[in-house]
Amino acid sequence: MKLLSSRPLWPIEDGLPDSFAPLDRNARCDVAIIGAGVTGALVAWHLIRAGVSCVVLDRREAAHGSTAGSTSLLQYEIDEPLHRMIRSLGRNRAERSYRRCRAAIDAIGKLVRRLRLDCGFERKTSLLLASDRSYLPELREEFSARGAAGFAVEWWDRARLRRESTLPQPAAILSQDAAQLDAYRFTYGLLTASRQSGAAVHDRSPVLRTRFGSRGVELHLRQGLKVKARFLVVAAGYEADAFLPQPVTALHSTYAIASEPVRDFPGWPADRCLIWETRRPYVYLRTTARGRVIIGGYDEPFRDAAHRDRLLPRKRALLERRFRQLFPCIPFETAEAWAGTFADTPHGLPCIGRHPDVPHTWFALGYGGNGITFSLIAAELIRDGILGRRDPDAELFGFERAKA
Ligand SMILES: Cc1cc2nc3c(=O)[nH]c(=O)nc-3n(C[C@H](O)[C@H](O)[C@H](O)COP(=O)(O)OP(=O)(O)OC[C@H]3O[C@@H](n4cnc5c(N)ncnc54)[C@H](O)[C@@H]3O)c2cc1C
Repeated sequence: MKLLSSRPLWPIEDGLPDSFAPLDRNARCDVAIIGAGVTGALVAWHLIRAGVSCVVLDRREAAHGSTAGSTSLLQYEIDEPLHRMIRSLGRNRAERSYRRCRAAIDAIGKLVRRLRLDCGFERKTSLLLASDRSYLPELREEFSARGAAGFAVEWWDRARLRRESTLPQPAAILSQDAAQLDAYRFTYGLLTASRQSGAAVHDRSPVLRTRFGSRGVELHLRQGLKVKARFLVVAAGYEADAFLPQPVTALHSTYAIASEPVRDFPGWPADRCLIWETRRPYVYLRTTARGRVIIGGYDEPFRDAAHRDRLLPRKRALLERRFRQLFPCIPFETAEAWAGTFADTPHGLPCIGRHPDVPHTWFALGYGGNGITFSLIAAELIRDGILGRRDPDAELFGFERAKA
């Protein structure tokens, strides 16, 4: 699948931070990881630090799948609001899912500091806007649910929004504990650090076939090359369906534009917080460490990549217009516009763990708008699973969740 249209921001802005040679000889390891995007990179780092040998393989250049197009807002707020998740999963499990996502953002921050990764990581607050007055009851319910669960949230009424910003919406929830980064540079930083710690990383190395035996898995690549491993981790992003007995997600097309760098941000509240809204599909905004504005959204059900990319000029114009409505005092000139594909699940949670029909294999599928926080959770759960440690949250994110 062509995951992105041409010209996503990060590879243009950052270039190629490192290079990894294609596999040129047979290899053997504890864990083979398919995918060198942000998920595969996080899994590799967690495993290698735990003393588990691993080989990472990617058919493209590293981080050139969805990770290259990610707008990289880090929010504990899952696409499915907490009050609705409480109805579908029960209070305990819904609140634990939200808390685990908040912890994932802290863990990413610690990792960035520990490895001194230059990836634009910044702590932020996040503003969830009621798209119009009809969403006010729902937003109030969400505010109560988050407050009762112990999340630090503030209610911003119309007067407060008017005082602090040019945003025209009737009310909003301001949440602490969000962040933003450049997932492309973060991924390269992790892969480079993992290689230094002993992981093998090979990009431009497609896995063509998998063969399972009683003691592990054998991956078949071009020119008859093989990688033998005790375990397989599938971190193949939205192409992971090839490794599953049946798809578990719905695909969507999504769109984003990035501005030329801007000097001042008049009317943008809370020290350039992350912004999103209650309407579905939503529009969301952030700024970058280099002073750009990114606005994304206007998702569509996915038909095919050519159709998705044909819609890009129209979506770009819609996003530009929306930005001018929200921030009439900030000059916005589009530098890059791109389209991507993403997947979500009906419950808004990822699929992480073992599938009952696929032996020796762990799936790290961070579906939904919180893909990167889910990637971190996947890395922790899979490391612990392979080491035989029990994680009490594993069942929240596994394939069996719906039945529990
Ligand atoms: C436009 C856009 C905006 C987004 N915004 C956000 C956001 O604000 N916040 C957020 O948290 N998430 C966001 N996401 C989602 C997030 O980017 C993804 O969840 C994340 O990048 C997925 O990373 P990954 O490593 O799982 O997948 P990928 O980056 O796609 O990596 C998977 C890799 O597997 C490789 N692969 C697949 N099959 C094979 C094979 N057979 N052999 C070898 N290699 C293979 C691919 O080449 C690919 O590089 C956004 C996504 C898009 C598209």
